[in-house]
Amino acid sequence: MTDFRIFCIGRNYSEHAKELNSEVPESPVIFMKPSSCVVFEGVKVPIPQHGKVLHHEAEFVLKIGKAGKPKDLADAASFISEVAIGLDLTLRDVQNSLKDKGLPWELSKAFDYSAPLGRFKKISNNSKLSEIEFTCQVNGIVKQKGTVSDMLFSCERLVLEIGKVWNFIPGDLIYTGTPSGVGPIISGDEIILSSNFCEGSVWKFE
Ligand code: ZN
Repeated sequence: MTDFRIFCIGRNYSEHAKELNSEVPESPVIFMKPSSCVVFEGVKVPIPQHGKVLHHEAEFVLKIGKAGKPKDLADAASFISEVAIGLDLTLRDVQNSLKDKGLPWELSKAFDYSAPLGRFKKISNNSKLSEIEFTCQVNGIVKQKGTVSDMLFSCERLVLEIGKVWNFIPGDLIYTGTPSGVGPIISGDEIILSSNFCEGSVWKFE
């Protein structure tokens, strides 16, 4: 059996790249999390203990609906079957130290419970992904606001680029990157993800 994969995109919003002092990339920055990182609503998310600063990164998430590789941008759109809003949880202090040493990011990004995921909504031919907006509230205060049209690389472009390297498996997920406003979460915090398209979700941290 082949499990689904979680592809994640770094620096896909210029304002977020700026807030982390990262360069805006010329092609998508792609990394992965194991599928075991996914957490569905209703589960309390434990704060990982191998770092000090856990950040929320609210992201628009695509689910791939068919196998294979897209031929071009128009074909890439047909690979996206459902969308949701999720969190790419990141231990920022650990990530910064790994980045400084030029080491892989898994310890900071791919730990258990690092990919909370809201409920998926099916898209149709009429769904305009670029008009989808989402917000991330921490303890009732809006910290992040994202609009899919602000992404440096569009959903279709991400699917096309990932498909150049990997054959898609139905169920594969793409976390498309986070807008600016990332910040710390501590035990007892509550995050609410909302959107003008997908259903909202509530996350408690312990
Ligand atoms: Zn992210």
